[in-house]
Amino acid sequence: MAESCIFCRIARGEIPAQMVANNKEMAAFRDLNPQAPVHILIIPKKHIGSLDDAADSDLLGRMMALAAAIARQEKIAKTGYRTVINTGKDGGQSVDHLHIHLLGGRAMTWPPG
Ligand code: 5GP
Ligand code: ZN
Repeated sequence: MAESCIFCRIARGEIPAQMVANNKEMAAFRDLNPQAPVHILIIPKKHIGSLDDAADSDLLGRMMALAAAIARQEKIAKTGYRTVINTGKDGGQSVDHLHIHLLGGRAMTWPPG
């Protein structure tokens, strides 16, 4: 599963992506089909299928902290931004590798669709 997983392949550098952060534990790259002027995905390099499979709360905390740091780097922290984790079928998850969406650069609407 992890061999063919698209985000595992991006983490291994086998598929190109516009990286904005990359360390031993996590990678962050621009979404291929951006839904806002800034749309970045934060992933753990280790394959974790979804939030429902994520047992490491420290890792989850570091992913959120990285999202906030990238928001500052992208200059959207002052105007605001949205972080989203889609989980499973009803959550609208389409790639089965845990990721945080970081969206900003425009005003978001609520409720989400
Ligand atoms: P989900 O629907 O699972 O929450 O989000 C998956 C996201 O991954 C989508 O926003 C989609 O545009 C993005 N995506 C899917 N395949 C690729 C890819 O190969 N490269 C990049 N950069 N983004 C991708
Ligand atoms: Zn994966």
